[in-house]
Amino acid sequence: MAGLIRTWRSRLPVGPRTPVVTLHEGNTPLVPAPRLARRAGLPEDAVWLKLEGLNPTGSFKDRGMTLAVSKAVEDGAKGVLCASTGNTAASAAAYAARAGLRCVVLLPEGQVALGKLAQAIAHGAEAVTVKGNFDDALRLAREGAGGRWALVNSVNPFRIEGQKTAAFEVADALGRAPDYHFLPVGNAGNITAYWKGYVEYRRGKPRMMGWQAAGAAPIVLGRPVPKPQTLATAIRIGNPASWKQALAARDESGGRIGAVTDAAIFAAYRFLAREEGVFCEPSSAASAAGLLAFAARGGFRKARKGLRVVLTLTGNGLKDPASAQALPAKARTCAADPAAFKRLLGAA
Ligand SMILES: *Cc1c(COP(=O)(O)O)cnc(C)c1O
Repeated sequence: MAGLIRTWRSRLPVGPRTPVVTLHEGNTPLVPAPRLARRAGLPEDAVWLKLEGLNPTGSFKDRGMTLAVSKAVEDGAKGVLCASTGNTAASAAAYAARAGLRCVVLLPEGQVALGKLAQAIAHGAEAVTVKGNFDDALRLAREGAGGRWALVNSVNPFRIEGQKTAAFEVADALGRAPDYHFLPVGNAGNITAYWKGYVEYRRGKPRMMGWQAAGAAPIVLGRPVPKPQTLATAIRIGNPASWKQALAARDESGGRIGAVTDAAIFAAYRFLAREEGVFCEPSSAASAAGLLAFAARGGFRKARKGLRVVLTLTGNGLKDPASAQALPAKARTCAADPAAFKRLLGAA
């Protein structure tokens, strides 16, 4: 069935009169990552990647947005409003375009990856640059919402409801819930949503393993970070809206929330692209950096047979070309001359 509202209707807060605004999101692949598994010292069949960058706008945000925008239409909204580090804006803009709603996106100045900004503009969103960080932008969005403006950040419970379907898909693909689920944590909506999904689906419960960037790790530090710093812009958040829910997911699941440096995030980003053929955005690679850090510290103790570890790769690498361009490249130029090219190949 097409799109997650139709697929999971009985598990979502929709009625017969809820319009279905969909771009056929969800149903993303879960692919094995044998090289990453080996690097973590685990059996080759233990580690799996949930490729959320293959959603229609290139991130998991589409799962929440199909429901949030459908409910906004049902409730008679004239427009949707969000603060965003980029992907929420791209997704809101696309689904609002689909629904014929206005879309206003509040973006922290100078902190949004090029591809995401391009998407919001292409879909006709009204972009407002906020002189401040994401947390400032979210405060403005919350103030501005109401009346006929629906707030579609993850403080909107329909976002969490839509996003929980990823846990259903993982459990279906593996035949049960994994033992561990690693994912990046920014505003903490996604870790909240996965945990809700696993609990509701009753196919087992993984330990929820959330990872923040070291320069933007309020949950790890136990206090808000006024000026969060990381090149992983999608998780550059100093005061997560779903902070309490993330702690509950961690504690109820016996999991943990840790921090990884930007250097570790970018090393994992490069490893996934070069060794697994999977190009995700830097923030997404926090899950792989977290896996390697946890494994290196002996977190898995004895890796038993049948161990299953899932990593959510939250967004598509194409969104952030500047980060990819900063990687060491094997690029050369060549004269438009076959002999010169043969020499170049031979010298390679
Ligand atoms: C939104 C986002 C995150 C963070 O998710 P939260 O639900 O805010 O914790 C991580 N990675 C990418 C690519 C995102 O778009």
